[in-house]
Amino acid sequence: MPRYIFITGGVVSSLGKGLASAAMGALLQARGYKVRLRKLDPYLNVDPGTMSPYQHGECYVTDDGAETDLDLGHYERFTGVPASQSDNITTGRIYSRIIERERRGDYLGATVQVIPHVTDQIKQFVLSDAGDVDFVLCEIGGTVGDIEGLPFFEAIRQLGQELGPENAVFVHVTLLPYIKAAGEMKTKPTQHSVKELRSIGIQPDILLCRCEIPITPGDKRKIGQFCNVRESAVIEGRDARSLYDVPLEYHRQGLDREVLRCFGMEDAPEPDLSRWESISTAIAEPDGEVTIGIVGKYVGLLDAYKSLIEALHHGGIANGVKVNLKWLDSEQFENDGPVEPLEDVHGVLVPGGFGERGVEGKIAAARFARERKVPFFGICYGMQMAVIEAARNLAGVDDAMSTEFSSEGTSVIGLLTEWTRGNEVETRSSDGDMGGTMRLGAYPAVLGEGTRVRDIYGAAHIEERHRHRYEVNVAYREQLEASGLKFSGLSPDGVLPEIVEYEDHPWFIGVQFHPELKSRPFEPHPLFASFIGAALEQSRMV
Ligand code: GLN
Repeated sequence: MPRYIFITGGVVSSLGKGLASAAMGALLQARGYKVRLRKLDPYLNVDPGTMSPYQHGECYVTDDGAETDLDLGHYERFTGVPASQSDNITTGRIYSRIIERERRGDYLGATVQVIPHVTDQIKQFVLSDAGDVDFVLCEIGGTVGDIEGLPFFEAIRQLGQELGPENAVFVHVTLLPYIKAAGEMKTKPTQHSVKELRSIGIQPDILLCRCEIPITPGDKRKIGQFCNVRESAVIEGRDARSLYDVPLEYHRQGLDREVLRCFGMEDAPEPDLSRWESISTAIAEPDGEVTIGIVGKYVGLLDAYKSLIEALHHGGIANGVKVNLKWLDSEQFENDGPVEPLEDVHGVLVPGGFGERGVEGKIAAARFARERKVPFFGICYGMQMAVIEAARNLAGVDDAMSTEFSSEGTSVIGLLTEWTRGNEVETRSSDGDMGGTMRLGAYPAVLGEGTRVRDIYGAAHIEERHRHRYEVNVAYREQLEASGLKFSGLSPDGVLPEIVEYEDHPWFIGVQFHPELKSRPFEPHPLFASFIGAALEQSRMV
């Protein structure tokens, strides 16, 4: 049976709890243990699929088609363990299961209540389907004291009792604010946060204290005393130079040693951190830099593009260069044109997106990159816009558009109403539910012989993660190919265009899927590595 580590947050949100959990998982892995990470989200949406990226950041998609919290992206990138449907749950999902069972009569006349029914469901989720791992790390979203989080805290409190201290450890991530005017670090918010946690029956074993300056031994002692934890269990968590330095930093501060000590595993093997060290050096000592212009719609909140940003940095690591990102709101292009803002970039990337706002700007960006022969990477919506651009400006379909944003004109991109998943046919209609009904998760594609993508992947068959409702209409293939846009990757049945590229361009690729979701610092995704390589070439030319 695995041991459980519960990670909670206090004082404020955005303390990097997800990252801390991912780093903890990576450190245990470096000691030879098998880990699995899970996230419990106390909001009422069934999943984050219907939430605006402005509110909740990126929606991460797993191989098995779950739309999940972006923290699962951190977990995968740091541990390489693919997440699945069973690694993220929300209040909404729990309640919908309970209400379904209640309607079926499964509760046999009982009054259905938060305790025990909701808490039992949460416990069942935490314990189920863990597989053959040594540690399950379970992060609770939100902050202690939030009303909606209470059933989750109660459930993990009960689990702490049931599993026993030798099998369950509680880590609380908190903040030690630095008050400039007083020149002092303050421990009171942390004391209050722990008090709040203890009032609902949870005594943290470890405090991971986010702070700007080092914690003095005196403050560690004070925090330990007031919060009833060992002094050595007060761990300093200062901002790291890069995301991928976080495991090394937390190790230096003794986090993994303390976790193992709580489990009574003092004689655990020392970690092998060599791969983290080499990533850290690669990031700290780049040999050159490139600038990529990202033409999107949610540029006001960079969490909306979390995996994309990371994948671009992985591409940088693969080429030994630093990647600078220039964020551009595609709507701006609609008035001022793309030329001036894109003049100095070495590559243009149009990421995924939804809705009508800013589409013409994305189309203009694709045209700029095609005509100026600047490396171009179109992802999902970005690919669809590149196809519309080709249809309008090369293939003579002047009114080409997508049914996503117009009911008039020629729908080169149309609503996907039927597709196959393995041997099953999935069907959708235009008036169906929005939640969980896109083409989601891993689907195979076959790459054409002699194409650039086949060369980049070094394979003819690939599997990539999808999340979209619309699709390039394969009926336009011949017309588009005749004007130069090659359909270089298709679904195995040849019906769904997966990749397009121009042959007579230094690097112009559009993909219907989201390759950024599968990129890891240790295994940069081949498309991102190749794209940054092309941008590097471009930078040498200008
Ligand atoms: N809006 C497009 C669609 O639904 C693209 C989605 C995306 O970019 N993830 O097909």
